Amino acid sequence: IVRVINVTKSFRMGNLEVEALKGVDLEINSSEYVSIMGPSGSGKSTLFNMIGGLDKPTNGKVFIDEVDISQLDAFELAWLRNRKIGYIFQTFNLIPVMTALENVTLPMTFAGVNSADAQEKGIALLDEVGLQKRYQHRPSELSGGQQQRVAIARALANSPAIILADEPTGNLDTSTGEEIIAMLEKLSVEHGVTIISATHDHKMLAVSDRVVWIRDGKVERIEDRHALDISVGGIQSQADRESTD
Ligand code: ATP
Ligand code: MG
Repeated sequence: IVRVINVTKSFRMGNLEVEALKGVDLEINSSEYVSIMGPSGSGKSTLFNMIGGLDKPTNGKVFIDEVDISQLDAFELAWLRNRKIGYIFQTFNLIPVMTALENVTLPMTFAGVNSADAQEKGIALLDEVGLQKRYQHRPSELSGGQQQRVAIARALANSPAIILADEPTGNLDTSTGEEIIAMLEKLSVEHGVTIISATHDHKMLAVSDRVVWIRDGKVERIEDRHALDISVGGIQSQADRESTD
């Protein structure tokens, strides 16, 4: 569903040129849960921005559903960002003057959904993330975890195929972070949403299908968590069975 081909990204700051991505190749399949891990400054957010069409690569290409997104005009790109991808950020990025429900219905309004349907779906989404009693609260009246739930509901508003999350648990305590991870896992497992998440949070590894380790703007290693399950988990569960029989 996502193909990143030899993507580089340089930022020029006066005389200084920072090469944030130095040739990244990556393929992500539909319904996969992929975590992008790596040290601070390794290029995770930059890669997030490239995949999400929020910024353009210096070189290389990003394909979403076989479409080269660098070839899209502004209107097509806006459509992609509104309909195909849901975004979740470390700092939640809700609109402060809008209620939880208004934040969630806004992408639907952009997509041309009529207001009654948008309200109905917005309420259903807020219910689904456990915010039944918070429709009329503004972000400042919600806890961090609740704000991130609103952001998840908003990301789902137009039923995107892909959720892109940049440090979704970065501003949350451990247990709230675990709730958010569980919610993302559910989206992936039960609804087949493709999840791509840049993270420092090692709790995220357990729910990932693959982990892409980035270092210094390059993919260092791609870890297939299922291969691990078969080689380690399989033998272990066999041993467990024998010991309890
Ligand atoms: P963190 O874990 O701290 O969020 P990261 O892996 O997301 O780090 P990036 O934000 O992608 O790292 O940054 C990668 C490099 O690119 C850094 O050296 C950073 O200074 C540089 N960089 C990122 N965005 C810009 C920008 N808009 N202008 C200039 N340099 C940038
Ligand atoms: Mg980052």
